[in-house]
Amino acid sequence: MGKVIAIANQKGGVGKTTTAVNLSACLAAQGQRVLIIDVDPQGNTTSGVGIDKGDIDECIYNVLVEDADPKKVIQPTSTERLHILPSTIQLAGAEIELVPTISREVRLKRAIDQVTKDYDYIIIDCPPSLGLLTINSLTAADSVLIPVQCEYYALEGLSQLLNTVRLVQKHLNQQLAIEGVLLTMLDARTNLGIQVIEEVKKYFREKVFQTIIPRNVRLGEAPSHGEPIITYDPRSKGAEVYTELAKEVVSNG
Ligand code: ADP
Ligand code: MG
Repeated sequence: MGKVIAIANQKGGVGKTTTAVNLSACLAAQGQRVLIIDVDPQGNTTSGVGIDKGDIDECIYNVLVEDADPKKVIQPTSTERLHILPSTIQLAGAEIELVPTISREVRLKRAIDQVTKDYDYIIIDCPPSLGLLTINSLTAADSVLIPVQCEYYALEGLSQLLNTVRLVQKHLNQQLAIEGVLLTMLDARTNLGIQVIEEVKKYFREKVFQTIIPRNVRLGEAPSHGEPIITYDPRSKGAEVYTELAKEVVSNG
């Protein structure tokens, strides 16, 4: 049975999608069978693994709203052992369309249950909100990985996120654990980054991943080539750190 990890933070631009794509690709490179589920209507994960959104017939929208068979919507990617359940802008309507439906919070979980035995890891890239799509993701997940950008106000908004996690644990998914807090986009030239690391570690203690993701130009470039960092530039710092993160995730069990 695959382990389901949701990558969530309602702040945009903190590295959720970069982490979803590159953690998934590095896990696949280490021999794991990985499914990445794009739950963001922007579809940056989908294009980030090389899928042309214009070529998609059915996406996660059809699975969540119309009960399409997830196995028919999942596609292979150019990375061996890495599959994707893609997203398109159509998904933007789902948040509203799901509101009046029965068991609206467990739709993603039901879809994942149909494919979980085919994968070792299922990584969900959440949208930048705490709405129904993120609730579905947290309800379906075994754990949540929280990227935190090494910036001013890094901790801002995290209490809201943790509160949502607690509500999901209470009402929808008792098993939901915190996989870890991932510090992202560290600029090693500034003291600010170091201060943020200390602050986040004081708050989350052993829940903070040892791997810290630095700012790396190649990580920013890779998506426009539709490739994860390990194939776009295997020798880059970005490839090195996401490889380390994948090992840490595997060792978490
Ligand atoms: P989110 O999914 O949380 O909105 P993204 O992963 O899309 O965040 O990252 C926001 C932007 O920052 C993207 O343009 C991405 O390419 C870039 N980026 C993310 N992580 C890094 C990094 N470690 N180094 C350089 N650029 C990064
Ligand atoms: Mg994103």
